Amino acid sequence: MDLYSGHINKLIEELAALPGIGNKSAQRLAFHLINMPKDRVQRLASSILEAKENVRYCKECFTLTDRDICPVCANQNRNHGLIMVVENTRDLAAYEKTGRYEGVYHVLHGAISPMLGIGPGDIKLKELVERLQGEVEEVIIATNSSLEGETTAMYISKMIKPTGIRVTRIASGVPVGGDLEYIDEVTLLRALEGRVEL
Ligand code: ZN
Repeated sequence: MDLYSGHINKLIEELAALPGIGNKSAQRLAFHLINMPKDRVQRLASSILEAKENVRYCKECFTLTDRDICPVCANQNRNHGLIMVVENTRDLAAYEKTGRYEGVYHVLHGAISPMLGIGPGDIKLKELVERLQGEVEEVIIATNSSLEGETTAMYISKMIKPTGIRVTRIASGVPVGGDLEYIDEVTLLRALEGRVEL
């Protein structure tokens, strides 16, 4: 028996398909949305659409941005020979918040996970290799310390080693399994400063 109207069910279904939102939260959000004033719902709906239509990958580092080249890559004062590899744009934002990193980034948009069937071809690794044709002094691997993050770090290190470019891994001040985005700035900086050669 359908407890709710078809429209509500559809809304709950769409919300429940989002990451981190279970069925209960989806129901709560759906009813919250329906009780919201119509103009606020419209603002929310249009900001989702506008973000979807205008946000794209930076042509250099592949972070999500409104422009062809993101503000970090466009900044000539940054060291473009120093590339920090992160799993996603949220991790980039975490390091940017420290205000102390002077290099640029490369956003993989995921990590290698044989369990989930995510291989090297499914993340932005080919694009990283292409960037190494330029003048790169060091690649800092700052993937998470989860199994997937470590697997990815190992893969990248093996891939870059033959080029002679220096490869480092952020120190393990970052707790095992910890997502970079939840770690405080001091720990992030310590991890960066204590990075080790691979
Ligand atoms: Zn960029």
